[in-house]
Amino acid sequence: MRRYQCFIGGQWRQPASGDYFESFDPFLAQPWALIPRCDARDVDAAVAAARQALEQGEWANMHPSQRGQLLRRFGDLIARDADHLARIEVQDNGKLYAEMRGQVGYIPQWFHYFGGLADKVEGAVVPIDKPDMFTYTRHEPVGVVAAITPWNSPLLLATWKLAPALAAGCTIVIKPSEFTSASTIELMRLVEEAGFPPGVLNVVTGFGADVGEPLTSHKGVDKIAFTGGENSGRHVLRNAAQTFKRTTLELGGKSAQLVFPDADLDNAVKGVVSGIFAATGQTCIAGSRLLVHESIHDAFLDKFVALARTARMGDPMNMDTQVGPVTTKPQYQRVLSCIAMAREEGAECVMGGKPADRPECGQGWFVEPTVFAGVNNAMRIAQEEVFGPVLSVIKFREDDEAYAVANDTAYGLAAGVWTNDQRRAFTAARRLRAGTVWTNTYRAVSYMAPFGGFKASGIGRESGQDAIMEYLETKCVWMSY
Ligand code: NAD
Repeated sequence: MRRYQCFIGGQWRQPASGDYFESFDPFLAQPWALIPRCDARDVDAAVAAARQALEQGEWANMHPSQRGQLLRRFGDLIARDADHLARIEVQDNGKLYAEMRGQVGYIPQWFHYFGGLADKVEGAVVPIDKPDMFTYTRHEPVGVVAAITPWNSPLLLATWKLAPALAAGCTIVIKPSEFTSASTIELMRLVEEAGFPPGVLNVVTGFGADVGEPLTSHKGVDKIAFTGGENSGRHVLRNAAQTFKRTTLELGGKSAQLVFPDADLDNAVKGVVSGIFAATGQTCIAGSRLLVHESIHDAFLDKFVALARTARMGDPMNMDTQVGPVTTKPQYQRVLSCIAMAREEGAECVMGGKPADRPECGQGWFVEPTVFAGVNNAMRIAQEEVFGPVLSVIKFREDDEAYAVANDTAYGLAAGVWTNDQRRAFTAARRLRAGTVWTNTYRAVSYMAPFGGFKASGIGRESGQDAIMEYLETKCVWMSY
C-alpha cells in the first residue's frame, strides 16, 4: 500500500505520532493508501515553518511579479501532471475520471489568473481633508493561512484557497480531509518542483479533532480558509474568535432549481439531472430541491425520470460511467438514512431509494439516483443537506410562492432558474437569496467568477478578482510634511 508523508518546511516527514491511517478506494471499498496521522505537534511545526517563510528569507522579500511567475509555473506543472492527479483523485474519492480530467485540466487557470493578479495589487493615495498631510494605503499579506478542505473536491477546493493566498504573498498550512488527503500531498511534489521556498506551503494530514482544532485555534495562524460542513464551520468560527482570525467559510447548501412553465423542458430536465446527480450529488451546489410549476409538474417528472434512469453507474475510471460511488462509508450510510427519513415523512419515492444492486457497481458504496415527489418544504428532506444523489420535488403555483419556498432554507449557496421569459429571469436573479444564480444552466464555475454563500452557506467569496482581497490587510499610512 502506498504510504504518504506530510510536508513541512520543505521536507517530507513522518508524523510526530509515527501513526498512519488508511484511505479507501470507494469503488472497491478497500484501503489503498496510508496517510500520516498528524497531531498538534505537527501543526506547531508547520505553523512555525509557515511563519518563518512569511517573515524572513526569499518569499518574504520576493517581488510580486516573481511570485506571479512561480504561480504560473506551478499551474503549468499541474497541467503537465493532470492525468496523474486525476487518477489519484478517482482512486481516493470515486469521482469520475472523465470529470476529473476536465477539472484538473481547468485548475491551472486559477494559478495563471491569480499569478497574473499578484503584481496588480495597488494601494491608493487618499485625497485627505487635512493640510500638509500625505495619506496612502498599502495592501499586505494577511499572514499565515490555515486552509482546510473537505473530501468532495480536494484539489479544486484547495486551489480556490492556494491561488489567491499565494498571489497575496501569504504562507499556508493546508489540512485536507482525512478521507481524501492523497491528491493534496501529491500536489506538494509540484510545489517543490516549481521552486517555492521551504515553508510557503505545508501539508498536515489527519482528523478534525487532532489537526483541524489545533490549527484553527493556533495563535500563529492569521486567517482560516475553510470549506466543509456547517457544524465544523461553527467550531472553526468559534476557534477563530479567540484571536479574531480572518475567516472565509464555504459551507453547505440546499439549492433550489426553479422550473417555470415557459422553460425549454428538455434543456431544464438535462440541467436538473446533472445538477443533482453529477458527482453523485456530493457537491455543495447540488440542486437538491426541484421547484416545478404545477402545470408542467407531471410532464417534467416523466421526462426527468426517463432520463435519470438511463444513468450508467459503475467503475469511475470507465469513460462511459455517469454516476460513481459515494465517497465514504459514513456518507453512504448517511444518504441511506436520509432516504429512510424522507419515506417516514411521507414523501413519495418515484425513483431509486436504495443501494445500487448492479453487478457493475461491485462492492462499492453506490446509491441509486433517488427522486422524492410530493415533498413539502417543511420536511427535513427539504431542509437538511443530504450530500448525495437525492432530489426532493416540490410543486408551486405562483412565482412569488416559488421565490418564498426557494428562500425558505437556512442555506443560500446557489439556485437554478429555468425560463425563457427575460423579465422572469431578471426578477428571479434579484429575488433569490443565494451567492450564485444560474439561469438556463447549472454548475458552471470559473476562476473569474466570485463564488460563496449567503446565510449558513458561508462567509466570504472565492475566485474572481476580489478573492485576493480575502488574503490581504489594508494598511493606512499618514505622513505629515
Ligand atoms: P467536514 O466539515 O466534515 O470536514 C471538512 C474539513 O474540516 C475536513 O478536513 C475535516 O477534517 C475538518 N474538520 C472537521 N472538524 C473540524 C474541526 N472541529 N475543526 C477544524 N477542522 C475540522 O465536511 P465534509 O464532510 O468533508 O464535506 C462536506 C461538506 O462540505 C458539505 O456540507 C458540503 O456542502 C461542504 N462543501 C462546501 C463547499 C462550498 O464551497 N460551499 C464546497 C464543497 C463542500
